Amino acid sequence: MIAEVIVDVAAHPIDRPFDYAIPAHLQVLVEPGMRVKVPFGNRKVLGFITAIKDTTAFDPARLKPIHELMDVVPVLNEELLDMAKWMKKQTVCFEIDALQVMIPSALRAKYEKRFVLNAPIEEIAAPLQAYFGKRPFVRAQEAVEVYGLLKKELEKGTIVADTDISQQTAVKKVRMIHITDSLETLESIEIRPNAKQQLKLMDYMKENLGKSIESSQMQKDAGTTLPTIYSLVEKGAAIINNEELYRDPKLQSEIERKPSLQLTDAQQIAFDAIDGSLSTSKTFLLHGITGSGKTEIYLQTIDQVLKEGKEAIMLVPEISLTPQMTLRFKERFGDMVAVLHSGLSAGEKYDEWRKIQRGEVKVVVGARSAIFAPFRNLGLIILDEEHESSYKQDDSPRYHARDVAIWRSEYHQCPVILGSATPSLESYARAQKGVYELLVLEQRAKNQPLPEVEIVDMREELRSGNRSMFSVPLAEAIRERLERKEQIVLFLNKRGYSSFVLCRDCGTVMQCPNCDISLTYHRSTEMMKCHYCGYDEPVPHTCPECESEHIRFFGTGTQKVEEELARLVPEARVLRMDVDTTRNKGAHEKILSAFGEGKADILLGTQMIAKGLDFPNITLVGVLSADTTLHLPDFRAAEKTYQLLTQVSGRAGRDVLPGTVIVQSYTPEHYAITLAKDQLYEPFYDREMAMRRASGYPPYYFVVNIQFTHEDLMTAASYAEQTVSYLKGQLSANTLIIGPSASLIARVNNRYRYQCLIKYKKEPKLAEVMQQLIKIYRSEWIKKGATLAIDMNPTSV
Ligand code: ADP
Ligand code: ZN
Ligand code: ZN
Repeated sequence: MIAEVIVDVAAHPIDRPFDYAIPAHLQVLVEPGMRVKVPFGNRKVLGFITAIKDTTAFDPARLKPIHELMDVVPVLNEELLDMAKWMKKQTVCFEIDALQVMIPSALRAKYEKRFVLNAPIEEIAAPLQAYFGKRPFVRAQEAVEVYGLLKKELEKGTIVADTDISQQTAVKKVRMIHITDSLETLESIEIRPNAKQQLKLMDYMKENLGKSIESSQMQKDAGTTLPTIYSLVEKGAAIINNEELYRDPKLQSEIERKPSLQLTDAQQIAFDAIDGSLSTSKTFLLHGITGSGKTEIYLQTIDQVLKEGKEAIMLVPEISLTPQMTLRFKERFGDMVAVLHSGLSAGEKYDEWRKIQRGEVKVVVGARSAIFAPFRNLGLIILDEEHESSYKQDDSPRYHARDVAIWRSEYHQCPVILGSATPSLESYARAQKGVYELLVLEQRAKNQPLPEVEIVDMREELRSGNRSMFSVPLAEAIRERLERKEQIVLFLNKRGYSSFVLCRDCGTVMQCPNCDISLTYHRSTEMMKCHYCGYDEPVPHTCPECESEHIRFFGTGTQKVEEELARLVPEARVLRMDVDTTRNKGAHEKILSAFGEGKADILLGTQMIAKGLDFPNITLVGVLSADTTLHLPDFRAAEKTYQLLTQVSGRAGRDVLPGTVIVQSYTPEHYAITLAKDQLYEPFYDREMAMRRASGYPPYYFVVNIQFTHEDLMTAASYAEQTVSYLKGQLSANTLIIGPSASLIARVNNRYRYQCLIKYKKEPKLAEVMQQLIKIYRSEWIKKGATLAIDMNPTSV
């Protein structure tokens, strides 16, 4: 028997499986989808078995054997193994990256050998100090040159060898004590009268006959120790068993189940269309304004799918995976639901994943990577807020969850629902062409009117002498709501406000020494931080350039607004929600529930609050600056602005109280703003499509972005240059090749970034050409220290 293995090795020019012999003792165990450790060159690497076969094109006698089998149950099934091959082509990634992204991070441990410092650094040989100076360990792989030295130190004991296995991979186990249910047994146990501890525990056990209690709990309740428990266990009073426990952040049983709602006529039409196609691979685009009852349709179609004994994946963007959202699913489906999001620890995620793997749950609600949930009998995939760019992964594999969903729907012959109030132009265009079936919800489910939207021209405000970031109408509206004891949401477009340090004498803005970007001022820690490479330093007291003391700190946008708000309405209770206040686990949740319970009048925040928020008492939403997304150097700027304004407006007037939205802008005449005012999606779509056609962007053209990084500017530029001329020789004449040019942020972490862009309509050779480029990269450029990133269909350019 021979195993085909995809190994975790980046620097090999050919991305293909390698053949390994399966040692006799492993032959009964191996299956495709298991992880293995195999020899590769002169080291051992991790890999995935992708196939098992009888023959090989190589000399069977010379095949190396698998070194170690890491799983007893495959972590990937046949479908996912197939999908990896497709993803490799589709996204131009290495197959290993595609395989790794499908399993929880806890299972992605590399099991690499490393050397860990075991003594003060001065005690080891000087050349090694340079290695260990950076971190307390050195990876065996990178230490080849100093191996001799390491060996000597190992012998001395100043360093130790260690295998880095992620702790999180470990299944959580608890020690359970199962007390016998027979009083007779307990009474027949002899305990010496002076063994007070044992006597006491015996009394406790008699009171808890037949119960199973976690040992730590028993120690607490019975006021006893583990050795005492063991001594009674030995005498037959109880049985000890280590049992697997799921790390569940929320106790499921506490959630009250709720029945389905009676669908409105419009919902019913959409529901029937989907329900009638449950065994087809149709893709539906559910275009429904905010609050139109899309989620209720999702819940009821999932219910149908479960009745057929199948499973469902419900994807939501990370930021809208609010407690409210997950609660709605648990209320409907109870413990049939697994939840996957970045707020969970790696261990918790692993546990949720195992529930899916073992078929213990039937529904998963999760962010992007939940699309890889290892269900075997999928009946439905839903992407809510399908336009969200977080569905595309930023690094390799640069997949879009929508594409993966459609691939899986074909595999399982099940439908996909793409839901949005503001569909992406790509999806809407496909619906227009009939590739997707369009379903429309034009009214809010409870028939509440859409909020009234007022646009305030900030240039006028300035002309009449108001320099505040609050326009007169917004300030008045805020005061009014405070008086009426209604709630307010203020939305700040994060990127628009800076948080940097500027010298008022020489104009210097503090820059990151490693990147072409200014440092961000963190008030809470009084540090200057680079958000690209992690560099930080304490805030200066004088200008580093001219030593002037006149330096000015600009707080993060929301902090600045908070201060101004405190001057405007000192009596208001304000909650702030931004990256600074939500860094701790559960903070997000706490802020939202405090606001929901009416503990604050105003919720002030960034993008994070644009979604999901569903509180009846919110009657005013203020958008402080609508323009900031509009001026991003990105072809999707108008689309993003339109989406954001629609989302934010959707937060107001969701219940009985009518809502008002006030949007402040310096370019109030822009079509993205005026059309978002009345949620006129179609006119917006037409305008924006015309722009895209004229400028040659998606959905009219496909785009590929190719970026090189290198420590040396000229090298990065020259690889990009070579790529451009290579592409020009290979691709068709109608295809546009733009660049090379320096990337928008031209240097990150001391690496220069150069890029070029391909725009094409039809390019049959593209996949092949990209593979060829990868091959050149892996056989030449990578050795010279370059990185190459190919992004097929980037979400922004
Ligand atoms: P969307 O997902 O489109 O924003 P939701 O499904 O969240 O809309 O519905 C908005 C509100 O309307 C929610 O409070 C929901 O409980 C309520 N709702 C949805 N459908 C119905 C219905 N058929 N009858 C009564 N209330 C409904
Ligand atoms: Zn200065
Ligand atoms: Zn930096």
